[in-house]
Order: sequence, then C-alpha cells, then structure tokens
Amino acid sequence: MRSTMMDVPLLVSRILDHGSTVHGSAEVVTWTGTEGRRTTYREVGAAAAQLAHALRDDLGVTGDQRVGTFMWNNAEHLVAYFAVPSMGAVLHTLNLRLFPDQLAYIANHAEDRVIIVDSTLIPLLAKVLPQMSTVEHVVVVGGGDAAPLGDRVSVHRWDDLLRDKPTRFDWPEVDERDAAALCYTSGTTGNPKGVAYSHRSIWLHSMQINAPEGFGLGPTDLELAIVPMFHAMSWGIPYAAFMSGASLLMPDRFLQGAPIAEMIAAERPTKAGAVPTIWTDLLAHLDSHDVDVSSLHEVIVGGSACPPSLMHAFADRYGIQIIHAWGMTEMSPLGSVSREPAGATGDDAWAYRYTQGRVPVGVAARIVGPLGDVMPADGTSVGELEVRGPWTTARYLGDDKPDPDKFRDGWLRTGDVGTLSPDGFITLTDRAKDVIKSGGEWISSVELENALMAHPSVLEACVVGVPDERWGERPLATVVLREGATASVDDLRDFLGTQIAKWQLPERWAFIEAVPRTSVGKFDKKVVRSNYASGELE
Ligand code: ADP
Repeated sequence: MRSTMMDVPLLVSRILDHGSTVHGSAEVVTWTGTEGRRTTYREVGAAAAQLAHALRDDLGVTGDQRVGTFMWNNAEHLVAYFAVPSMGAVLHTLNLRLFPDQLAYIANHAEDRVIIVDSTLIPLLAKVLPQMSTVEHVVVVGGGDAAPLGDRVSVHRWDDLLRDKPTRFDWPEVDERDAAALCYTSGTTGNPKGVAYSHRSIWLHSMQINAPEGFGLGPTDLELAIVPMFHAMSWGIPYAAFMSGASLLMPDRFLQGAPIAEMIAAERPTKAGAVPTIWTDLLAHLDSHDVDVSSLHEVIVGGSACPPSLMHAFADRYGIQIIHAWGMTEMSPLGSVSREPAGATGDDAWAYRYTQGRVPVGVAARIVGPLGDVMPADGTSVGELEVRGPWTTARYLGDDKPDPDKFRDGWLRTGDVGTLSPDGFITLTDRAKDVIKSGGEWISSVELENALMAHPSVLEACVVGVPDERWGERPLATVVLREGATASVDDLRDFLGTQIAKWQLPERWAFIEAVPRTSVGKFDKKVVRSNYASGELE
C-alpha cells in the first residue's frame, strides 16, 4: 500500500523561506575585525532573491550551472548558500587554501561559470583565474581594486548587481535528488574529489545537526560558525541554523585565537564549532589574557581527534564542554557526536566523551577487517570503519561507478581505523594511512599525540611513522612547547612511559615552532613526514 502522504520535495528553497519568515528576526553577525556587522534572516532572504535575479537575468545562469564561491564565512556567503541552490543552480564552495593547481583543477572539473569572491581575496583568486577556463563572470563582494582579475572575465560588483532587483523570487520546484551544492575533499593524495550534496541530503542532514543528540541548535542560540563554509559546508551549520532559527556569528577572515576571543566577548555566542587546532590557539590566548567567554557553554570539536587534555582544560578553566564529533566531506559531514548516554557520570561520562561519538539514525556503521570481513560491533574488534546513509555520497563526482578503493558493496570506506561498540559509539585509533606499522604491530599516532599533549609543557604534538630499517616504521614525535616552558626528550619519554607500552615509545624527536597545517587547519602529516623524517635519533 502506498502512503497517503503529500509528496513535497525537500528543497533548500523551503529552508530559506522558512528561515527568512518564521525566523526572520534571527541575525547573522559578521565580524569586521573590531565589531559585528548585523543582518537579519529576513534580509538574507531578500538578498538571496536579488542575487538569484542577478545571476539569472544579468549573468544568464540557467539550469544546474555551477556558481562558485571564493569567500570567508560572512553574510554574503550565506546569501549565496541559499540563492544558488534555491534557483536550481549548484553552489560550489572553493577551498581558498588549496594549492593553485588544485583550485584550478576543481573549478574546471566542476565547470564553474561564475565565481563570487570577497574583495580581500581578489589577489589570491587573480593568481589562479587564468587557469579556470570555464569561468565567465566574477562577482566581487566589497570595495577595492578588481583590476588584478584581468579582462578575460566580466567583473561585476555585488552591490550593483543586487540593487533594484526584486526581493522575491519564484523558486523552481526541482527534484529533491538533484545536486544543490558541491564540495571537494582537500586532496591529501592525488586530485581533490567532488561530492555533490542533494537538496534532500541537505535537509535530512540539517535536521540531524539540529537534533538534541546532534548539535542541538535552537532559536535561543548564537552559533559561532568557525569551520569555513568552504570546508564540508561549515559542517552544515548555515542550513541547520535557518531551519531551527539559531542566529549565526561569522568570523570572516579573523580566525586566530585573539580575534576569536574578542568576538566571543563582544557578541556572546552560546555555541561554536571548529577543528582542534583552533581551540588550542584559543586556549593559549585565554590562558594569558583576561577574556569573558562565559556565554559559551558547549562547543563541537571535530575534523581530527580531539585530545582529552583539551577537553579537560576547557571544562576546568572555562566551564565550556567540548563535544567531540567525527565526520567527513563525503558525509555532509556529520558522522557521529559524542554525548554520553543516560546514567553515565564522572569518569564513565568522560570515557564516552573521548570517543568519536555515537552514530545517529542516518548513519549505519560497520567495522571491516583487512580481507573485507565484517567484524562484530563489540567495542574491541579493530578494523576499517565503513558507513552508509542518506547524507553519505555513493561515489565521487564524474565517476560513472563507485571507486573500489573508497566504496564497497554500497558502503563508503572511510579510511579510518577503530572500533564500534554495540550501542553505536565509534572510537578511532587512526587514519589507516597514519597508523604506524612497527614490526607487524600497529601504533596509534593519535594515542601518542593525546598522551603527549597532556604534558603541561606541551602545546601541540604531531606523531608520524617514518621508515626504519629494522622495524619497517617507527614513530617520530614532533613537539611544540608552550611559550616559556621547557621539557627534554627524557622528560617527555618518561611521561609517556607511564601511559604507553615501552615498545611504542618514539626514539625520534623534533622540537618545532609550529605543526604544519592542511588547508582546513588539521595537522599536515604529509608535510611533517617529509620535513622531519630525518628527526634526530636519541
Ligand atoms: P580531509 O580529508 O581533507 O581532512 P575531511 O574533513 O573530509 O577532509 O576529513 C575527514 C577525515 O577527518 C575523517 O575521515 C577522519 O580521518 C578525520 N576526522 C574527522 N573528525 C575526526 C575525529 N573526531 N577524530 C579523528 N579523526 C577525525
């Protein structure tokens, strides 16, 4: 029997209409460096209609053509987030920190016709624009000299384009399974790979982000959205916020510890989300400055493993609870969120918080052994994590069938290694490519890093496997000491020795100024390996 339910498609335009009317007075606050620039969701809705008119009528965007953004997190980027998919076109968020060759590759691969750029990023875009062969129009947000963009493309000013355009648009009813937005993985190996999110997947994912066991956003929240809108759609927060009425605080290009502290004190967000390196920077700043961060009570940390020491530092010193989450660009990106189950208190609760979290209803997970054998979800069997669900990609853009290295029997192979408990908690030991294979045994680089980062003198530690004649691979520990702190290799080895088996302790060490980071702010283990592989033997 078929249901009697209405077949109303789940479209981004509906999220926009809802947010800009029902939550019309919710705010987007964009940090300018000294203060917040304020816009309401109602105004975002009107501007989205104006942008859609401009793209269609002035720039000739039709059908599912791609409109790229080369922007920080700000109100105009949010307008593009809604206008482009709502009009039936496809939003492509270009990761402005990729290498120029990769940027040109993804713009060409996606066949971007238009790029919207923040004027502060014109010099960066100008360098790669000549290689972006499908781009015909560039829309500049903000003032400043646009001459470096050259004359191969038509250059337009955002304000001029939107001025006098109607503030309503008759959004088309597209298929909910059509692409709405496009994001490329950051391509640590080979070229970046494209993931095309559908209207439907964005809807379902946003509902899970808002759910209490997700990020739990609601109309009384002001969410500080630090994760770049060009990295896994800022974890889906912009769309989720329009659904739930949470206001947004956008940091624009001010992503260091000091300005983030300043915007928290001035605007008083209730929640936030970012990768661990951002929180480490902020913690160092807070520990040496008197800043009021009392408005923040919960922050989501994911993108790479969150060191337990960071969780305790924020909880003990600032009353802020870190919620650990795991995900991937391929998963929209929400994979799991670590909230302890009912009844867990004290150390028991902390043990849950250290894990990568529990999978929600939209994510099925399994652990698979080296021969493709599905292993029990018993919390101890270790293997590669595989997932499937309505907001997980089934293949990469442009591939006619799923790449067998990344997909198996309708499941996404995450490349992450760990365990799955019977009640759905994932604990990751490492990325498969970062596990250190020493004499037939595995050493978790993350476990060594977490243990080292619990040492009071250590600000950050990044551990990688380096070739070793006898053992195949051995760990190399690179360590950044806190300002003014001292610690010798012996001190650190002794400290590790209290928690880690002796055979896993690194023999190679390097004290460094800063851990190199990827385009999305994670430890760049590839660069660490190549820069420090010759690390001094003790
Ligand atoms: P990139 O591959 O460029 O880092 P993604 O953000 O899509 O881009 O990365 C997804 C990967 O990040 C996951 O497969 C996993 O290895 C890592 N990751 C994300 N969150 C966590 C976490 N909480 N703990 C450990 N690893 C994580």
